[in-house]
Amino acid sequence: MKTIAFVLPIYNEQDNIPVLYERLTAVAASLADRFACEFVFVDDGSRDRSLPLLRALRENDDRVSVYALARNKGHQVAVTAGLDVADADAVIVMDSDLQDPPEVAHALIEAWENGADVAYAKRRTRNDGFFKRTSAGVFYWVLSKMARIEIPRDTGDFRLLDHRVVEELRRYPERNRFLRGMVAEIGFSQQAVEFDRDARHAGKTGYPLSKMVKLAADGIIGFSSFPLRLISGIGLVLAVIAGVWTVYLAVSRWVDPSSSVEGWTFLAAGMFLLGGIQMLMLGVLGNYIGRIYEEVQARPLYAFSVAEHGPRR
Ligand code: UDP
Ligand code: MG
Repeated sequence: MKTIAFVLPIYNEQDNIPVLYERLTAVAASLADRFACEFVFVDDGSRDRSLPLLRALRENDDRVSVYALARNKGHQVAVTAGLDVADADAVIVMDSDLQDPPEVAHALIEAWENGADVAYAKRRTRNDGFFKRTSAGVFYWVLSKMARIEIPRDTGDFRLLDHRVVEELRRYPERNRFLRGMVAEIGFSQQAVEFDRDARHAGKTGYPLSKMVKLAADGIIGFSSFPLRLISGIGLVLAVIAGVWTVYLAVSRWVDPSSSVEGWTFLAAGMFLLGGIQMLMLGVLGNYIGRIYEEVQARPLYAFSVAEHGPRR
């Protein structure tokens, strides 16, 4: 029988854990004749009663495993830890506040059985406040314009990953993790499953504005060189305009020496020319830094989706 592991990051979710567990076990029960399910809870340094609650669950249910990070490391790191320890044919990552309905797992698994290696849950609707909706909308729009690879819009980390993809993810050592970008970067066959996102069941968000900005920066800086190319672009435009202007000033001074104040041409033209050249050079430096950054990220160059070789049996 194939195994499915649910990876559930937990940060101060004491009032959600009982309901979450109930709904997860109901899903597992309806899958029981085809799949063995397990639940990997990663406590991300919760300050409430989440951890004792989780350990109590484990007391009565062998399918539950509990890992607690020694301190709060953030959602992306908690999910990474869960993916590192989960050992199953497929892993389903979902939020623990019931915004991602566990029942959507059925549709994700169906997509997986139909050949998808990644089935990502895409929000048809979302039940968040005005600020969250607009800021998320702007972020996904900017990211889709800038990113080198196509990162699906309106998609969080709620998704099913085939074990092959999970193994590939483990080869990505980068520290500023933007998992949905990394999964997109890996490739394999990826399929969207639409769902309606619920409101948070209880408690309050563990993603204040500062963490949202950090995540957005990880997405844009980690997957786009657009900001760097912008510097070179501005530098080039400035240098060209300054160059043309210098020629114009020199010519007009030569034709009519009284047209400008003594010494001014040289100073003004020199200032803009130098500014432009400096920007251009900053861009050159930036390009090297961009490359150093890519090398330091040390992402794998490729992943095989098929590797058939040797004599055929
Ligand atoms: N979470 C976490 N560490 C954190 C913040 C959040 O593990 O530092 C978990 C949280 O328990 C939840 C998921 O990440 O399961 C999504 O967080 P949340 O619902 O607070 O974010 P939002 O839905 O408001 O963006
Ligand atoms: Mg939430």
